[in-house]
Amino acid sequence: MEIENFLTKGPDETFALGERIGQRLGAGSIVLLRGGLGAGKTLLTKGIVHSLGFDADEVTSPSFALVNLYKTEAYNIYHIDLWRIENGDAAFAVGLPEILEEPNLIVIIEWAERLGGREPHGQVVAVEISGDGDDPRQISVTRSKQKSSNTV
Ligand code: ADP
Ligand code: MG
Repeated sequence: MEIENFLTKGPDETFALGERIGQRLGAGSIVLLRGGLGAGKTLLTKGIVHSLGFDADEVTSPSFALVNLYKTEAYNIYHIDLWRIENGDAAFAVGLPEILEEPNLIVIIEWAERLGGREPHGQVVAVEISGDGDDPRQISVTRSKQKSSNTV
């Protein structure tokens, strides 16, 4: 396990941190985002997706769609938002077990808290954002060293 802590002083820095996180992802990577409403989960996702070669302007919060798919030459990037799934098995509700069987995938999950005890295992990057409004954001990034295949 490797833990890094960051402080971002404005939206641009949150986006840039997303880009740094994205540069270290590969096929099978799972990013679990935790933090309250307006913390910066979607903005960080824009940075991640941009660094993977996809237009950040096309990245929108999947709070209603639940799952967005961004296709690049190298990856199918699944952007999932569990905000609206308060009850039951959130992983199952969005079809996460099936998604995780796909090759060349990267999964980014907002509101990973909702997974309860069913966090995926594998190449996980867990990001926790605290702070809201115009305040700086404290962002911790924890990487698992595990290289085994992904399961929930
Ligand atoms: P979430 O997906 O967590 O609900 P969003 O990414 O949609 O949050 O929104 C985050 C908001 O926080 C944006 O308005 C963004 O400009 C702002 N923001 C992000 N990082 C910072 C920061 N370091 N300082 C001030 N505002 C920030
Ligand atoms: Mg969001």
